[in-house]
Amino acid sequence: LWELIIVGAGPAGLNAALYAARKGIEVLLLTEDLGGQVIDTNGIDNYIGKRETNGSQLINDFWEHIQQYDIATIVGEKANEIKAMQGEHRVISNNNREYKARTIIIASGAQKRHLGMKQEYVLTGRGVHYCAVCDGYLYAGRPVAVVGGGNSGLEASLDLAKMDCDVSLIEIQNELMGDQYLQEQIEKNDNIRVYKGTQVKKIKGEEKLESVVIKDNKTAEEKELSIDALFIEIGLVANSDFLNGMVGTNERKEIIINENNETDVEGIWAAGDVTNIKDKQIIIAAAEGAKAALRVNEYLK
Ligand code: FAD
Repeated sequence: LWELIIVGAGPAGLNAALYAARKGIEVLLLTEDLGGQVIDTNGIDNYIGKRETNGSQLINDFWEHIQQYDIATIVGEKANEIKAMQGEHRVISNNNREYKARTIIIASGAQKRHLGMKQEYVLTGRGVHYCAVCDGYLYAGRPVAVVGGGNSGLEASLDLAKMDCDVSLIEIQNELMGDQYLQEQIEKNDNIRVYKGTQVKKIKGEEKLESVVIKDNKTAEEKELSIDALFIEIGLVANSDFLNGMVGTNERKEIIINENNETDVEGIWAAGDVTNIKDKQIIIAAAEGAKAALRVNEYLK
């Protein structure tokens, strides 16, 4: 029986592990991967004390730090289910192993939201991408489309246009949603064509992406765009499906926590992007992880 199991090893889970271990708590860190969303991040310049770094470097620094403590870690195993059982909660993994703990911190973060179309999954990495910052350079000078007119979609479109891509920007609402400053840049850019009030109806291609069919919501007119890459930038969704409603979540699937990181189940805390904390940032997730571990420490005492 562990005193604490932490699910997830992004900034929230890693910092929770550090704080828990420093309090002498017997902790098991169970995670699908090491680093979470940070691994996909190129330049990071808003983590205090690190004027300029990148995702893998920052995670490496976190990892080296926590390795100074006694933290049992299982990487590559996913929590498939958590069963709340007073004083002896269970975490059941995708390998059908069962781990018992007095307390749990859920720090399973978030992932890019998908459109939910079959060919989207088939062609992921073969034309369909979720991070223009990471993969855009593969398509320099080629025709591409971006789905999503929020800040990330607008930034992705501008980055791709800078790489001489011919960019079609597709937004389901009648207006772009991102910052005014970015919208102005988009309007001025000859490499970007904007389709507002338009949605993706079909993604085509077998071995690699060939085109997308888009539909104007008002006129119902359809149009096929021949493109080499589709960047889906429609926000994030909390990784909370595996909990199956075991703790309370909001309409965005984020776990609802109070200022002590408590969920509505005794002995289960949550931290970072998986929660309803508004700001999704590395330093905030890390701090939330620390807070959760300190509250767990008080509880265990
Ligand atoms: P995550 O980083 O999402 O980590 C979640 C962890 O949980 C992962 O290890 C994952 O494998 C694991 N996990 C998930 N489900 C399970 C499960 N069922 N069982 C076991 N393990 C599981 N923030 C900044 O401050 N500055 C930036 O410059 C910045 N740039 C960004 C760029 C991109 C492209 C993205 C996507 C995000 C960026 N962010 C940035 C946001 C920042 O990365 C997140 O706020 C932060 O990573 C959240 O940390 P987290 O620990 O809550 O979750």
